[in-house]
Amino acid sequence: MQFRRLAAFQNKLVNMAIQIKNIEQLKLMRRAGLLVGQTLELLRESIKPGMTTDALDAIAAANIKRGGGTSNFLGYHGFPATICVSVNEEIVHGIPGSRIIKEGDVVSIDCGAIIEGWHGDSAISIGVGSVNPEDQKMMDVCEESMWRGIGAGKHGAKLSDIGYAIEQYVNSQGKYGILQEYGGHGIGTEMHQEPHVLNFGRAGQGPEIVVGLALAIEPMITRGSARTKVLKDDWTVVSADSSRGAHFEHSYVICPDGKPFVLTAIDGGKSDLGHLGIEISSLLS
Ligand code: MG
Ligand code: MG
Repeated sequence: MQFRRLAAFQNKLVNMAIQIKNIEQLKLMRRAGLLVGQTLELLRESIKPGMTTDALDAIAAANIKRGGGTSNFLGYHGFPATICVSVNEEIVHGIPGSRIIKEGDVVSIDCGAIIEGWHGDSAISIGVGSVNPEDQKMMDVCEESMWRGIGAGKHGAKLSDIGYAIEQYVNSQGKYGILQEYGGHGIGTEMHQEPHVLNFGRAGQGPEIVVGLALAIEPMITRGSARTKVLKDDWTVVSADSSRGAHFEHSYVICPDGKPFVLTAIDGGKSDLGHLGIEISSLLS
């Protein structure tokens, strides 16, 4: 009983801290999100064996500037670059530098931008050239689990329905480690807002998904252990067993018509949510 009251109290505090956006604010968030999505597509087209991870950072910085945005990663708690680039056993928060990208690498890129004070945040993993089929499958499973999570986070659902859907899907596809120390988050006038979104757990718990709630959903999985270490640079998160990992992320919102819209997807999520039988909102197109 005591625990239940404590949980209810915690829920209330989280609800108080959740930022609800109106349609005008969502239109600004869409501008930031679209710039992030376009920047990631440019990076996907540009990546080639022989490039340094620094070169990717320069492309992202120039594109965000060209689009009228600023990076929300640069200077975030001292982070020294525009994007995070994490290669193979690096899962997230890798710092771009002199590392040379090779054929067969799995490169995860996390990118964010701010326009008029509103944030977008998205990530993709890319197989460079010809990749090991098991690595490709891991990336496909991670990406699809993100879409399943967004689909489960529909109007009127509970927050933990997202993590439940992610975990169920990943576990149905094989033996993968789902990172537990990192997860999704609310997003708006700051990159990281309440609530924290777990990528695992029981369904039916936590705050309700309501109109105007914007969330970044970001599963991180490995082909081995879910345990991680942080390198001496204080940023780069690697798998504890050096297995390769993948990371996908999109920021989405529930629009005033009760339908979702994926702010950082070029098509608003029309195609990938459509495959799951979910119609996106037309209010932000
Ligand atoms: Mg991110
Ligand atoms: Mg994020």
